[in-house]
Amino acid sequence: MFACRLPLWRFSATCKSRQSGHFVPWDSCQMLSVKGINTTVGQEQQAGLKGKQVLEDLEMHLARSETEALFHEQPETGNPYLEDTLLRSYLKTHLPPKVLEEVHQDLERFGSRLHTKIQPLSRECELNPPVFRQYDAWGQRVDHIHTCLAWRRMKEISAEEGLIAEAYERRYSNWSRLYQAVKLYLFSSSSGGFNCPLAMTDGAAKVIESLGIPGSLKNAFDRLTTRDPQQFWTSGQWMTERRGGSDVANGTETVARKQPDGTYRLYGFKWFTSAADSDMTLTLARIADAEGQCTQGSRGLSLFFLRVRDEEGKLNNIQVQRLKDKLGTRQMATAELWLQGARAELISAEGRGVAAISNMLNITRIHNVIGAVASMRRMMSLSRDYARKRVAFGKLLKDHPLHMQTIARMEVQVRGAFLLLMEIVRLLGLAETNLAREQEQLLLRLLVPVAKLYTGKQASAVAVEAMESFGGQGYMEDTGLPVILRDTLVLSIWEGTTNILSLDVLRSLVKSQGQVMAVFLSTVQLFPKQDAGSAHPRILVCRYFQLSSGELGTVRVPQDRYQNKCIFNVTHLSESKIILWFCFLTGKSPQDC
Ligand SMILES: Cc1cc2nc3c(=O)[nH]c(=O)nc-3n(C[C@H](O)[C@H](O)[C@H](O)COP(=O)(O)OP(=O)(O)OC[C@H]3O[C@@H](n4cnc5c(N)ncnc54)[C@H](O)[C@@H]3O)c2cc1C
Repeated sequence: MFACRLPLWRFSATCKSRQSGHFVPWDSCQMLSVKGINTTVGQEQQAGLKGKQVLEDLEMHLARSETEALFHEQPETGNPYLEDTLLRSYLKTHLPPKVLEEVHQDLERFGSRLHTKIQPLSRECELNPPVFRQYDAWGQRVDHIHTCLAWRRMKEISAEEGLIAEAYERRYSNWSRLYQAVKLYLFSSSSGGFNCPLAMTDGAAKVIESLGIPGSLKNAFDRLTTRDPQQFWTSGQWMTERRGGSDVANGTETVARKQPDGTYRLYGFKWFTSAADSDMTLTLARIADAEGQCTQGSRGLSLFFLRVRDEEGKLNNIQVQRLKDKLGTRQMATAELWLQGARAELISAEGRGVAAISNMLNITRIHNVIGAVASMRRMMSLSRDYARKRVAFGKLLKDHPLHMQTIARMEVQVRGAFLLLMEIVRLLGLAETNLAREQEQLLLRLLVPVAKLYTGKQASAVAVEAMESFGGQGYMEDTGLPVILRDTLVLSIWEGTTNILSLDVLRSLVKSQGQVMAVFLSTVQLFPKQDAGSAHPRILVCRYFQLSSGELGTVRVPQDRYQNKCIFNVTHLSESKIILWFCFLTGKSPQDC
């Protein structure tokens, strides 16, 4: 029984004593054998006695170990919806009662499904990453990307749960987008990486919708937004080429040649294409004129729709060069693709590709925030549970004030990030149902890149800190914790790196002639003044908030060196403001909200 409960100790740190048949620590074992070889008979007898004593002592120790809390108790979580008090409190505070009633029922059911059925699939996805087979046994090029059953099941579940559909059906008007985001947030850390294709699928649906769902794209739109698993399509987003992912304006080399039937054929090399098993994609290319010349820069880029495979599953004149060997997100196939005359349809005005795809980026960046908040929440839930079970220095971790201070700091970050996310999807819901005022649209324009930039970094920091809260166990692969960390690290890279988003924020400030910042600061000042001076914890946040906004007010045009700091301040402010508003709405202090 002992060997069975501590298998690692048995094999790594113990050996089996020939004299007693007990497992003894490696040091004692070595000591016994060394003494046995190099000593006289008398000394040997003495050593034998000593060894016996060691073994007897050990036996007592081992007997004690049975009753003491020597084993690591596994941290556990239950229904993620029911356990998320902040989420439930937020929904209760914001949703109209009728919507809340329906949404609550569905989320409770979904939470239970996540806990019992979907989380085990997620682990399966991690253990069975996609496999690429370039040739068949007879030397025929097949370029087959094999994904595991659990991954394919995730696709079906996504459709069944309406993870994309919910946002486009608009059953709950402006609240539909928020409701969809909540489901994605709950799903994200149990999705086995399937949240990535969902982000791009949502982005593609958004682009097609914003183009007015042209007839030729009606089928694609219906499939991206269906609840029928047999009909459901996912989409890719092929932008990054070898010469640049940030600088698509100069980095895109792919050329589009017009065909007599009005379609195009694309020739080029796409350097990063995630979820390469997707059914369709949106991609950028330069249209060649009659002489084969292309306009350079962003004015030469147009947006195309293409099916990745035909009805028989044959690739659309595409060759898979290889799958990327990635640090994380290993559950998902990210490929390098040669486009060798892939048949495509032009869906933007010529030269307006960047503007057209920006709708997709807006959505995928929001999904990035969802992923960041979800992974922080998952780490925190496990970390909190572990603190209730793990004993150190004679008491549970939760009873060590210093440990709890570390956890509390992370918890505040997660809550701030969560409320910022809710604010963004609330604003997006208003914008999508034409209910947003101009101020709200400007605020949304500012907050999306700011939140993506900030929570991407924040999630990595929180994941590292949370990993440490499990001690050595946090570093062990089979706990599943390193997967969360690895997958979190990409959040600051894809969909725009920190610096690129920071420049994007600046662009929005300049383009709106400062209006964006004016709106932001005016929402900051909406905070009620009458509470100033009170000792209530909410006021501490308020002071920080006002202090920072004062600082910000003095920054006119941030230069490169200060830019990120300035934008981090905007996010601090946003999170603080939103925490505060939520406190006022719920009558709770920041610590309890
Ligand atoms: C796992 C994974 C999956 C991906 N999936 C996809 C996908 O499906 N589709 C897709 O299109 N792309 C995908 N990407 C690519 C990703 O979007 C790009 O890697 C990212 O946009 C950065 O581009 P880059 O790699 O060319 O880096 P670069 O653009 O070369 O950037 C390198 C560094 O320079 C900095 N930098 C660049 N320009 C400036 C500037 N003007 N000022 C200050 N700093 C600057 C950047 O912040 C970065 O730190 C994926 C990437 C990863 C890691």
